[in-house]
Amino acid sequence: MTLINYNLSGVRIPGYGCDVCGKQNVKLWRLNNVMMSDQTKLCIDDAARRVRVDASKIREPNVPRFLDPGHIMVPAVPSDLQGGKIDNYWRFEAVPRAGWEWWQGLPLR
Ligand SMILES: [Zn+2]
Repeated sequence: MTLINYNLSGVRIPGYGCDVCGKQNVKLWRLNNVMMSDQTKLCIDDAARRVRVDASKIREPNVPRFLDPGHIMVPAVPSDLQGGKIDNYWRFEAVPRAGWEWWQGLPLR
């Protein structure tokens, strides 16, 4: 297990792409309270579809962390890698500041 060091500039996380459309290195969301084995990471449009929210008017820099009122979708900020693949995500409450800065710095679409 390798903890991701977000303090390094230009961190690229292998496999950080939408599991539906394949878009890479954009802001991704995941379902909160879902076991890692069932985890999917989704771009804004696929995440919004999943929770039946209209995200068409969301633009940078005003990207909300939560897409849905129930906060089912949370930003997908990986915490560590195993064998070069994402092994886990930070719990929403535990994402370190540098992790947030990394996620905020990714393009929306
Ligand atoms: Zn997608």
